[in-house]
Amino acid sequence: FPLQIPELAKGTVLMRERSKVEETIQAMQRAGAGSLQVISDFDMTLTRFAHNGMRVPTTHNILDNRLLINEDCTRRIRELLNTYYPIEIDASRTAEEKQPLMVEWWTKVHELLIQQKIRKDMLARAVKESSAMLREGYKVFFDRLAEHQVPLLIFSAGIGDILEEVIRQNHVFHPNLHIISNYMDFDRTGVLQAFKGQLIHTFNKREGALLHAAHLRELQGRPNVLLLGDSLGDLTMADGVSQPQNILTIGFLNDQVEERKESYVNSFDIVLVKDETMDVPNAVLSYITSAGDAK
Ligand SMILES: [Mg+2]
Repeated sequence: FPLQIPELAKGTVLMRERSKVEETIQAMQRAGAGSLQVISDFDMTLTRFAHNGMRVPTTHNILDNRLLINEDCTRRIRELLNTYYPIEIDASRTAEEKQPLMVEWWTKVHELLIQQKIRKDMLARAVKESSAMLREGYKVFFDRLAEHQVPLLIFSAGIGDILEEVIRQNHVFHPNLHIISNYMDFDRTGVLQAFKGQLIHTFNKREGALLHAAHLRELQGRPNVLLLGDSLGDLTMADGVSQPQNILTIGFLNDQVEERKESYVNSFDIVLVKDETMDVPNAVLSYITSAGDAK
């Protein structure tokens, strides 16, 4: 492999077109950190999928704590998950078919949460008590981007208040971070009364990207994009980038590997199969942000 990135030879790495990946990384390295932005999904992309054989909670699942919601609510959210998650990952349905069902799912979950009168001052404790976990190597990832002043846009269909708390508690909430997500709206007494703005779910990130990302001034003049996701819907997160030059997409294939391998390899430039680390994104970033000395 001509590039000095040994991590790309790991057994968990799949690439449709190795030479194209190599050319893209080289072009991004030549343009330097000043031309780069990183756009990433949060749940199961920056966070781990599993740890010691146990699923790591998503931002929605972190709310499953008696401090915040009761047993009945937990049960009803689980029933919704059992109904809709198989649809989300169903390889035989198109994103268009899934879209209205995802809206239905998120809307029902948000309604249940609002009924629980969740208190803002309990969120940090719920995150602390949860088994939320960022991927191994996350600190190098967040710190390097901040050090090189590369904007990191996190685009999440999860809950913004919770993901911010996860990042904060891991001490990597740096000023280069921008977050587009579903945020809770609390009343004057700190009780959840609604969710702010337009609902973001797994399959409408494109609309969100066009609406929000294009207006973030920090992202202007950065035509090179490293995109990270774990769902095919995440690929549209870069659609708000004006006049992109080089886009490198990395997809974490966490689950249903055999069923989805082909579509992932056809859609992402690099696919990481059951890889719980940030090793490959970190190696790519290290190469791109090294000013000329790696060639
Ligand atoms: Mg995800």
